[in-house]
Amino acid sequence: MKRVAIIGSGPSGLSQMRAFRSAEEKGAQIPEIVCFEKQSDWGGLWNYNWRTGMDAHGEPVHAGMYRNLWSNGPKECLELADYPFEEHFGKPIASYPTRPVLADYIKGRAEKSGIRKWVRFNTPVRMVTYSEARSKFTVMVHDRMKDVVYSEEFDHVVVATGHFSIPNVPFFEGLDTFRGRLLHSHDLRDVVEFIDQDVLVVGRSFSAEDVASQCYKFGAKSITISYRSNPVGYNWPDNMTEVPLLERVEANGRTCRFKGGFTKDFDAIILCTGYLHDFPFMAEGLRLKTENRFWPMGLYEGVVWESNPKVFYLGMQDQFYTFFLFDAQAWFVRDVIMGRVVLPSGEEMAAHSRKWKVVEEKTYATQDIVQMIWFQADYIKELVAQTDYPLRPDDVEKTKQHGLEWKLNKDENIMGFRDQVFRSVVTGNMGRKLDTPWLTAFDDSVESYVK
Ligand SMILES: Cc1cc2nc3c(=O)[nH]c(=O)nc-3n(C[C@H](O)[C@H](O)[C@H](O)COP(=O)(O)OP(=O)(O)OC[C@H]3O[C@@H](n4cnc5c(N)ncnc54)[C@H](O)[C@@H]3O)c2cc1C
Repeated sequence: MKRVAIIGSGPSGLSQMRAFRSAEEKGAQIPEIVCFEKQSDWGGLWNYNWRTGMDAHGEPVHAGMYRNLWSNGPKECLELADYPFEEHFGKPIASYPTRPVLADYIKGRAEKSGIRKWVRFNTPVRMVTYSEARSKFTVMVHDRMKDVVYSEEFDHVVVATGHFSIPNVPFFEGLDTFRGRLLHSHDLRDVVEFIDQDVLVVGRSFSAEDVASQCYKFGAKSITISYRSNPVGYNWPDNMTEVPLLERVEANGRTCRFKGGFTKDFDAIILCTGYLHDFPFMAEGLRLKTENRFWPMGLYEGVVWESNPKVFYLGMQDQFYTFFLFDAQAWFVRDVIMGRVVLPSGEEMAAHSRKWKVVEEKTYATQDIVQMIWFQADYIKELVAQTDYPLRPDDVEKTKQHGLEWKLNKDENIMGFRDQVFRSVVTGNMGRKLDTPWLTAFDDSVESYVK
């Protein structure tokens, strides 16, 4: 029997296990699955962790989600096709769930699938190597509970370790002299520490937008967002403003000077400067090296490592779509491993990837987020068309409209877009209107959100 190693049991790793389980439920003989997870529970980034820096074992803390984080996209663009939100919560819920609600949801499907037995928790993967002679991978891991390092052999490796946990931390002149609170968003746990403070948020990603909005919601005195090339451009409230890139922190340790000459004193600087794709545990030749793009190169259909097609990477794209994107990828990977999908030659795979890359680059050039969302939807359509994943290409097509409306809602009211609701393409039902608007809702427990 083939053996498959899955590294990571965040949403992507869970999708991979669910895909195999789903085939097994339909009577197929599946390979032996072993999932190695460095945290003590599954759920990946959706596990809130009060720690920063190192965990209890001295491993880098993986999860960087903060308290009071709500989904930044509608749940109708991530709903798992074989496990609707309504099935999990027993009733319709609103469209932008809180972090605990989404964590509860993804864990719900995993528990129902009976896949916990496949996961070895507290077990970071240290090194994956490949032997051409034996056509096998050796996976070396560290069982942190027993403090034992051991290796096992596998026929396939699926890397599902995410790419939003190794902070990208640029240096700006004088940053080392700043006298206030200075952190990367990966270490942010609760914005209440910024109440009545002048906060500088560096970056213009989804994360910068959200961190800045959180600071506003919880009562920061002023929020300044510093962008590299273009402002985010939303209609921000009066105490929020966008300025060009930070140039330096002045010698007094408080004043920041930006390109164009604007200066202001700050109590805190939050670097929302993104993350690095980093897979130090993959041997050279197996290791994906990419920026955060909608089409990383070297991955056929966005998942198959072209240089060794027995290695797969899940969820490595820049993400608008998430959970059902991971499902679509996992179903495809499962079918490659089980021989249901036959891979073309190396040249054909590379040519196929280049074709997608050309479209991706043209899409990037438009700087239009809606076009990028639609690009990703087209990619998902191509994947699901090749497997029995319950979401069909037409269903994915319908979610493009959600992407467009999401953007329009943000343009209209950046502090109110989370109050809108969408129709599920899985159940056909509308989300339930929120009782309390996002801006004044401070209890993000599951009980409060789904009541
Ligand atoms: C601040 C923030 C906010 C976000 N907000 C949203 C949102 O609102 N909506 C949304 O849909 N998405 C959001 N995302 C995107 C997020 O990437 C996905 O939702 C999802 O968590 C990705 O799943 P994943 O399984 O690919 O990676 P992860 O969730 O990162 O899971 C990877 C797993 O691999 C494990 N692992 C890592 N290294 C090793 C190793 N060497 N050995 C063993 N195990 C290992 C980790 O412990 C973890 O459990 C957000 C991301 C961040 C950082």
